[in-house]
Amino acid sequence: MSNNELFATTLKENHFSLTKSRQRIFQLLSEVESITMRELIYKTNHTIDRASVYRTISLFENLRIIEKIKIGFKYKIELSDLYSYHHHHITCIICHKSKPIHENKQLEKILITQASSLGYKLSKHQIELSGICSVCQKL
Ligand SMILES: [Zn+2]
Ligand SMILES: [Zn+2]
Repeated sequence: MSNNELFATTLKENHFSLTKSRQRIFQLLSEVESITMRELIYKTNHTIDRASVYRTISLFENLRIIEKIKIGFKYKIELSDLYSYHHHHITCIICHKSKPIHENKQLEKILITQASSLGYKLSKHQIELSGICSVCQKL
């Protein structure tokens, strides 16, 4: 199933219609690795009002279409692992640029083992690293 099909199916199964603005926001999210609310609103170019963008993102979060990645007091939005590949992030504490860290099988195994040693079957996790990026280290 393609991402667009999965998106349409997810809305349908949850009795939400595939509106133009939902489609547009999904498309914008598909074009980026991750995005802030501000950038997303900017990219909609006034075709969708601010309140609708917030409502749509909140709906997408409830339907697990997106994930919010916490960065300090703010957050970035990106398509959930169902639409991309599983990964973690590292964010610069100075310029706030973030990069995806590709899946590491060993780390994933450790997490599953740790959860199971506590009697849990791991269903999801988020790991966020922060540091100072190579550009900011030279400032
Ligand atoms: Zn930086
Ligand atoms: Zn992971």
